[in-house]
Amino acid sequence: MSEKRQFKTEVQKLLDLVIHSLYSNKEIFLRELISNASDAIDRARFEALKDEGVLENDAEWKIKITADKDAKTLTITDNGIGMSAEEVEANIGTIASSGTKRFLEQLQSNKENLPPELIGQFGVGFYAAFMVADEVTVITRRAGDAASASKWQSKGDGFYTIEPCTREKRGTDVILHLGAEHEEFLDEWKIRKTVTHFSDFVEHPICMDIRREEPKRDKDGKVIEGEEPTVTITEETLNSRKAIWQRPKNEIKPEDYAEFYKHISHDFQEPLETIHWKVEGQTEFSALLYLPKKPLFEMFMPDQRERGVQLYVRRVFITDKCEELVPSYLRFLRGVVDSSDLPLNVSRELLQEARTLKMIQKNLVKKVLDTLADMKEKNAENYAEFWKSFGMIVKEGIHTDFENAERIQDLMLFDSSKTDEGKKTTLAEYVTRMPESQKEIYYITAENRKAAMNAPQLEAFNSKGFEVLFFTDPIDEWVAQDVTSYKDKKLRSIAKGDVDLDSEDEKKEHEENRKEATKENEGLLAAIKELLGEKVKEVRLSKRLTESACCLVSDEWGMGINMEKIMKAMNQ
Ligand code: ADP
Ligand code: MG
Repeated sequence: MSEKRQFKTEVQKLLDLVIHSLYSNKEIFLRELISNASDAIDRARFEALKDEGVLENDAEWKIKITADKDAKTLTITDNGIGMSAEEVEANIGTIASSGTKRFLEQLQSNKENLPPELIGQFGVGFYAAFMVADEVTVITRRAGDAASASKWQSKGDGFYTIEPCTREKRGTDVILHLGAEHEEFLDEWKIRKTVTHFSDFVEHPICMDIRREEPKRDKDGKVIEGEEPTVTITEETLNSRKAIWQRPKNEIKPEDYAEFYKHISHDFQEPLETIHWKVEGQTEFSALLYLPKKPLFEMFMPDQRERGVQLYVRRVFITDKCEELVPSYLRFLRGVVDSSDLPLNVSRELLQEARTLKMIQKNLVKKVLDTLADMKEKNAENYAEFWKSFGMIVKEGIHTDFENAERIQDLMLFDSSKTDEGKKTTLAEYVTRMPESQKEIYYITAENRKAAMNAPQLEAFNSKGFEVLFFTDPIDEWVAQDVTSYKDKKLRSIAKGDVDLDSEDEKKEHEENRKEATKENEGLLAAIKELLGEKVKEVRLSKRLTESACCLVSDEWGMGINMEKIMKAMNQ
C-alpha cells in the first residue's frame, strides 16, 4: 500500500533552487547526508541518556556507506534516532521546518540538559541528494519503536511516496539511485576521497566494506594461473575522527598538534607556532591555527594560494577558500576555525555577508597579532625566523587593515645602519636609540643591505651618529607611503629633498658657508647643469656629503629612487 503525495507547496520551488544553485560542487551531497547521519546519532545518544530503550542494546554508533555497482546505488546508513512515518512527513516532506531546528528549540526551553553538538540547523541539506541521484529511497525506523518503520521514495520532481515497511534495527538508510553521469560515486577511491576531504573530523566512524582480491599462490609465492582469486572484505573506517581543535588544550600533546598540522598543511616540517583558542559568548567558535616555518610550496603557485584556513561548521568542513575568515595579509596561516553559529549550507554569497564571520575574523586577527607581538618579546629567534619567511606579506596589512596598522608597524623588522649583519631592529628599538638632537626617523630604500650601506647619502648621517633604517623589500616603498610617522616622529627618506641634520647654530653657520661657497662656485654649478641638461632638475651644493664628491637625490615630493626603478621596469 503505497501512497503518492505532493510535497508541501513551497517545497518544490525550493527543491529546484537547492538542486541547481545552492551548491557549487556536487560532492557535498555526501557531506550533507553524513552530517544528517551524525546528527541522528547525536540525538539518539542524547535521548538514550534519559531513556535506555532507545539503545536497543546497540551503543556502537556507526555510519556506513555501501556502494552497489550492479544496482548503481549508494547507501548511507546510520544507527541514529531514525524517524517515524509522521516525522518523515514533517522533516523530509517539508524543507523550511527542519526537525533538527525544532529539536533545538525544544532543548532551549529545557535548559538543564545541554544540547549535544548538532550539525546543521537549516532544513535543506537532505535535498542535496538529488544533485547526484535520479531517485532517493529512505528506509527508516524510530529508535525504541520497532513497528514504526517506513519507506519514503521520490524522484525529486515534486512528488514522493511513503509506505510502511520493516527494518530490524533503529536508524536510517538513505539509498541514492545514482544518475548515469554520477556513477563515479560508486568508486571506492572517490568515496574515500570525498569523505576524508569533507567529513574527516566527524566524531562517529564512517565505515565502508573494502573488497580486496588476492590471486592464489603456490608455496613459493608464485601466482597459480586459472585459479579464482581469494576475495576478502574488510570494514574500514574512512575518517580520522580527530576533531583535535575541540579537545581541551591540556589533553593535547605537542606531537598531536604537529601531526594535525602536517595533515592539513602538507608541510613536512613542524609548525613554528601553534595557536589554539576558543571563544564563547556572542560568537562561539574554536580555532586551531599554525604559523609555518617556511613559505609552503603551494604559496609560490598563484592558483594554489587560496587553500588557506579551513572553515568548519560544527565539525563539518565547509571551505578552505574563505577570504572573509582570514585577511589576505595573514594568508600564510594554516589550520581550522570551527563555528557553531553559521548555518551548515552557507553559500559563497552568504559567507561574504555573514556578520558572524566578520566577528570571527576580527577576533582571529587580534589573536594572531597578539601572538606575534608576544613571540617578538619572548622568543626573538623564532620571531626573526617568522619575519624572514612572512614579514613581506604581513606588511601588506599596513595598507589594507587600517584598524590594525599601528600594531603591524610594531611588528616590522628592518636592517639599519646600526644593526649587525643578520640582526634587525623594530621601529620602537630605533626610537630608543635616537640621540636627543635627532627629531625624525630616517630611512633609505635600496635593493639590499649592501647597497644601502654604500649609499653616499648615508655619510652625513653616520658622521652625525644618526641611525638610518634600510627599506630593502620591494613593498617597503609602499610601507613608506603609508607610514608617514611613528610615535609622533616623522619618517623621512634620506634620499629625498633636503634633510635637516643640524642644530640651529650649526645651520646658520653652514648656511652662510654654503651661500658663500655657492657664490664662489656659481660658474662650476652652471657648467655642470649645462653639461647634464635635461637629465637633472637642479645642481646644488650639498650638505649631506662628507666623503663622496656628489650624489643623486629626488625631489622631496618626487618618487624614491627605488620606486623610479620599479616604475621604469614596468615601462611607466
Ligand atoms: P537539517 O539537517 O539542516 O535539519 P536536512 O534537510 O539535512 O536539514 O534534514 C531535514 C531533517 O530530516 C533533519 O532535520 C532530520 O530531522 C531529518 N533527517 C534527515 N536525515 C536523517 C537521518 N539520517 N536520521 C534521522 N533523521 C534524519
Ligand atoms: Mg542536514
